[in-house]
Amino acid sequence: MKHDIIVCGAGIVGMATALGLARAGVKDVMLLGPAPKSLPLDRNTFHPRVYAISGASEKFLSGLGVWPLMNTERITRVEAMEIKGDAFGALYLRAWQAAQSSLTWIVESGEIERVLQQALKVYGLEWVEDTIEAFDNGRGHTAEGRDLEANLWVAADGARSTLRELAGLKYDESSYDAVGVVGHLTTEFAHQASAFQWFRPEGVLGILPMPDTDDGHQVSMVWSLKTAYADTLIAMSPERQREGLSESLGKATRGRLGRMTLRSQLHGFPLTLASSPMIGDKVALVGDAAHRVHPLAGQGLNLGLGDAQELVKAVTQREPFLSAGDLTVLRRYRRSRAQAILEMRIVTDGLKRLFDQTVPPLPWLRNAGMSLVDRVPVIKRLLIEAASRSA
Ligand SMILES: Cc1cc2nc3c(=O)[nH]c(=O)nc-3n(C[C@H](O)[C@H](O)[C@H](O)COP(=O)(O)OP(=O)(O)OC[C@H]3O[C@@H](n4cnc5c(N)ncnc54)[C@H](O)[C@@H]3O)c2cc1C
Repeated sequence: MKHDIIVCGAGIVGMATALGLARAGVKDVMLLGPAPKSLPLDRNTFHPRVYAISGASEKFLSGLGVWPLMNTERITRVEAMEIKGDAFGALYLRAWQAAQSSLTWIVESGEIERVLQQALKVYGLEWVEDTIEAFDNGRGHTAEGRDLEANLWVAADGARSTLRELAGLKYDESSYDAVGVVGHLTTEFAHQASAFQWFRPEGVLGILPMPDTDDGHQVSMVWSLKTAYADTLIAMSPERQREGLSESLGKATRGRLGRMTLRSQLHGFPLTLASSPMIGDKVALVGDAAHRVHPLAGQGLNLGLGDAQELVKAVTQREPFLSAGDLTVLRRYRRSRAQAILEMRIVTDGLKRLFDQTVPPLPWLRNAGMSLVDRVPVIKRLLIEAASRSA
């Protein structure tokens, strides 16, 4: 079966790319990949993965018509951010300091998936729940025996992308020897619409605000811990996890949110830094299939949504005599993403490495640097604007 464009992978980035193409008037788009499983959630239960969604992504999702479909009771507006160094360094960013109403939004992955699926149905987009197994020069073969052909294939099939590998595209990947440990917590004190980050010797701890429930105040934790330590923690019984985490979180946060108690299962995500050439013969890579960054800035999905937006632009604004998979079109797409991806790589990897250094005077310098930035309103405003605009 010949199509104009096949998007391979129905994660958030793949669905957003397919929807973006359909909304921009591309007639013959097919989505190939298993549909995300929806969880039955009530007002006291939340999806295990939550994302910090930047202003740029919020605009893109609004443009796709899906942002207003999300349940506002499940979205948390972040109005302030507290960032603490591993000694005396501290930086406080508040949206009003840059005349903004919010820095970012915290949204469950399941909620974004739900509205994207709903919108794709409205557009009647062809969606085949199958996986790619073989690929050569625009022709693919699936696990269920389908033979497919397209002018352009979009690899949105995640960090372990099969399509990327079948297309022979390089993926430079280095491990941080760390795992992002994710779970939801009940806190004694309200988060007051603030996100928190502690650069700790054992890894970066991020706390994201979430809606209160009948059980009390709720936040989500992302703690990047050395692999061996994270594996031990995840293998513990739920009771030991709860006790151990309450104690270590109390120490790490110096009681900032009072007692913190684990209220969900813990999940671990291995952390890597990865990049790819972004394009190949009739193939464009988007999202984690194209790149991965350290989650300390919470920007991986935002970068992927930026890819989706720019790819839709490159394809729909091409000259009429060029096909969607023409190298000229693909090169324009790659160029449009180069700077944002490089910047995010440098910032996240640089910060991670800076806080790994233990040789004096670096620990003193990084904490002094943070406190200095905190006292300069102009730099703070630039940081706030960058934080809410990124990707
Ligand atoms: C701990 C942690 C915290 C994070 N926090 C944030 C955050 O706050 N904000 C943020 O922006 N980002 C965050 N990220 C990054 C974010 O999780 C990823 O960048 C994002 O999920 C990537 O989405 P994707 O759609 O590209 O890939 P995926 O979500 O991996 O989707 C890939 C899809 O492809 C499908 N697929 C796989 N193989 C095939 C095949 N052979 N054929 C067809 N389909 C296939 C899969 O079923 C899946 O649906 C975080 C990451 C980690 C590890």
